Amino acid sequence: MARSSQDGEIEADDAWSSMPNRVSSFQHFPRTEEFSAERLARAGFYFTGQADRVRCFSCHATVEDWNRGDAPLMRHQQASPSCKFLSCAHGLRASDLIRSPAYDEEAEAMEFQLHAPVQPEDLAAAG
Ligand SMILES: [Zn+2]
Repeated sequence: MARSSQDGEIEADDAWSSMPNRVSSFQHFPRTEEFSAERLARAGFYFTGQADRVRCFSCHATVEDWNRGDAPLMRHQQASPSCKFLSCAHGLRASDLIRSPAYDEEAEAMEFQLHAPVQPEDLAAAG
């Protein structure tokens, strides 16, 4: 059984606009213990295959040298404050993020960076 071209050559950024495609790109990401594929993919990133470098499918900004406690969305915003995907994700899809079970983790990371207190109302709404 020799499959010579199993590697999917995904070049079009259109492919990376798909969340499942981005998640699967992180299969060989070296830092998935600290940064789950879903968190990174939700921030618009896919793995470039080099070191721990990820790239946004929308603005093409790259982020690397991840530090423990980094929030993917924050790193994305720092690298590319005017990214359309970010403004979309933060604006139109804020409610989606809040509904997601993984949001707590992200909020925690952001809180860590911003030193912002968690609103008790948010917790009540999530439960
Ligand atoms: Zn971007």
